[in-house]
Amino acid sequence: MTDAPYTGGCLCGALRYEARGQPLYMGHCYCADCRKASGSGFIPFMAFAAADLTFSAPTRTFTCVSARGSDAVRNSCPTCASLVFGGPVGQTDSHTIYAGSLDDPSLFRPTMAIFAKGRPDWAVIPEGLEVFEGLPD
Ligand SMILES: [Zn+2]
Ligand SMILES: [Zn+2]
Repeated sequence: MTDAPYTGGCLCGALRYEARGQPLYMGHCYCADCRKASGSGFIPFMAFAAADLTFSAPTRTFTCVSARGSDAVRNSCPTCASLVFGGPVGQTDSHTIYAGSLDDPSLFRPTMAIFAKGRPDWAVIPEGLEVFEGLPD
């Protein structure tokens, strides 16, 4: 592991982030909402404490009801619409950064697959991940 901060951002560069410290956990989410939001088979996510994160610009947000029944907030770049991270800025203890936005995507080391139940066959889970049908306990 590196001491360098985890940095990344959107496609156009208007929305950037810097995360200090190490991710709390990393994984793939195969839920239907992540599929729809990303247009892909899953979202690769890294959780960081909110106190360890800095965002460069205001985001465009979209909120829907999560599997837990609470609000699930996704943040996009207002300019290029890239999906960058989850969680309401200033109102949560932790955020999920979407790992495809990393400047160095090789830093991403997923250990779990969540909401694996109901995924399509083509959304393949890599070997070695701990698989959860829904959320981990
Ligand atoms: Zn952008
Ligand atoms: Zn999801």
